[in-house]
Amino acid sequence: MDKIHRFLIDESNVRGEVVQLEASWQALIATTEYPAPVRQMLGEAYAAVALLSATIKYKGTLVVQVNGGKPLNLLVVQSTSEGHLRGMARWSGDVDEVPATVKDMFGTDATLVITVQPEEGQGERYQSIVNLEGKTLSECLTAYFEQSEQLKTRLELAVGETSVAGLLVQKLPGEAKDADGWNRASMLAETIQHSELLDLSVEVILNRLFNQEVVRLFKGDDLRFKCSCSQKKVEDMLIGLGKEESEATMKEQGNIEIDCDFCNTHYTIDEVDLARIFSESVVLSSDSLH
Ligand SMILES: [Zn+2]
Repeated sequence: MDKIHRFLIDESNVRGEVVQLEASWQALIATTEYPAPVRQMLGEAYAAVALLSATIKYKGTLVVQVNGGKPLNLLVVQSTSEGHLRGMARWSGDVDEVPATVKDMFGTDATLVITVQPEEGQGERYQSIVNLEGKTLSECLTAYFEQSEQLKTRLELAVGETSVAGLLVQKLPGEAKDADGWNRASMLAETIQHSELLDLSVEVILNRLFNQEVVRLFKGDDLRFKCSCSQKKVEDMLIGLGKEESEATMKEQGNIEIDCDFCNTHYTIDEVDLARIFSESVVLSSDSLH
């Protein structure tokens, strides 16, 4: 079962999380044959979005997205506050031999944007831009935490054959009883082998890393792959596109065929659907006038 576990080292004023994703990672990569370096980046980002999601308080969707990169043109991973994950990537050209570093995968023009999109009535949308100057995604995100959130953080992200995993430790604000606790915890966190993070249970991982400390481990939260696409969203998109444009596409192609980029679900809109969609949308918009 895919889970994220939170833990606390009270004496050191340090919090942490361990995430391990297998079924939800399998579901993500089942949709597309990703070349190894793209798969590596996507896997790191997937573990990272789960870790980020657990560090912030929100109700809605958290999106980590890199746009405009070359050869990795687009990378997007999402988590909802319910623990539903999804993600995808697009690349161009032959990338099999490209090293899976931030610089080699994204080039110099890409931007990494973190967006929190709250559900209606659950606060303001906010967005942060993360500098992509680190060598790895975890270096970039570590720098983000230190600059934007003023929180000292260490992140380890691992991508294996069948699963992905991540470890985060973070210094909480305020004085710690154990003044050297943070330095120790962050150094210890860096000693984790990626194979350990992927394959060992969270209890064993924490025991190996912090056997000199008192660690409080909380019950894990379930995470799973779940796409938020739906027939309704496809119809809303067509309404957004407009009647004329939609009908032109229909004329050209017979039906309107749409595949979800995240889960490969196939949606077909035929002429009857289209007529219904636009008759309903007219009713809806005249209603909203009153
Ligand atoms: Zn979908």
